[in-house]
Amino acid sequence: MIRDGAGVRLVHVLWLTSGLGCDGDSVAMTSATSPSIEELIRGVVPGAPALALYNQLLAYESGEEFLRPFWRAIDGRLKPFILVLEGSVPNEELSGEGHWSGLGVDPGTGQPIDVCTWIERLAPQAAAVLALGTCAAYGGIPAMRGNPTGAMGLRDYLGWNWKSHTGLPIVNLPGCPVQPDNITETLLQLSLHVAGIQERIELDEQGRPRWCFTRTVQEGCGRAGFAEHGVFARTPADSHGCLVKIGCKGPVVKCNVPVRGWTGGLGGCPNVGGICIACTMPGFPDKFMPFMQASPLGVMAAQASRFTYGPVLRRLRARAIRRHFDVEPDWRRPGKELRTGYQPRW
Ligand code: SF4
Ligand code: SF4
Repeated sequence: MIRDGAGVRLVHVLWLTSGLGCDGDSVAMTSATSPSIEELIRGVVPGAPALALYNQLLAYESGEEFLRPFWRAIDGRLKPFILVLEGSVPNEELSGEGHWSGLGVDPGTGQPIDVCTWIERLAPQAAAVLALGTCAAYGGIPAMRGNPTGAMGLRDYLGWNWKSHTGLPIVNLPGCPVQPDNITETLLQLSLHVAGIQERIELDEQGRPRWCFTRTVQEGCGRAGFAEHGVFARTPADSHGCLVKIGCKGPVVKCNVPVRGWTGGLGGCPNVGGICIACTMPGFPDKFMPFMQASPLGVMAAQASRFTYGPVLRRLRARAIRRHFDVEPDWRRPGKELRTGYQPRW
């Protein structure tokens, strides 16, 4: 649905970094290039509104001055805005007389304001809500088994059917941290929607932007051909071979980092020899530990390709390449006859 937002030139982004997290997503975003956060703030993307960013880690302002836009948003005097949560939501019912995580002080009571209170006050006024990073999307590292905080993702806290007043479900953008351009591109798409310029973004069954999470890591990995041929690395230093036997979870993980790279198209876990540890997935990290241990299914698939079709494919392809593809065509040689198949038209 495209809403009537004609004339919206500025979209505010209220970014709570006070969930349980490490601020890694804010840091990651500063290296985005396509688009960069500077381009979004300056409003130089054709047709898109400019963004006004309020992020504790990046702001020059501090104290009450920093919090002013947050109070104005709660009072309905700052519109339209996108609420971003970074870090997971703690269960304040378990925090006893203290609190797990907060931001600022309530002027009325003089008490710290916990992050759950900010979420409950801001979310109803937000045109769109973004759960940024695996912590905010699914709980992530702070929600590991045995943690004392009862940490959870934002959808678990507000409800998986929760929608903003514009009818938009919470957008989950996982990654630990999130790939930088995925952050700025999603902010751009959300701002275009909030400004009434573009349809709402398409989400998958986990609430993720579909365009970022359709492929598995292996489907975009530069080493995928090795897997097909049954060639596997034995140590992280092996540049020749698929990494699945040393623990890479790439075949079962949805993530576009191998295709998109990390900064400016460069880098990205398996592209530079790092195993995929499934940092974008629900259940990360517990479900995928120990990271350096291959999963039995991964090893079975690797053994199958190694001892059945892998070597056959490898030999047939090597022979075909040697005989047919890695050679110059016959007609590109000196000789007394023209062998190009050229037919004179006279
Ligand atoms: Fe930090 Fe990862 Fe959590 Fe983001 S998802 S806050 S990078 S631990
Ligand atoms: Fe995380 Fe794996 Fe994607 Fe790397 S490739 S960012 S470890 S999900």
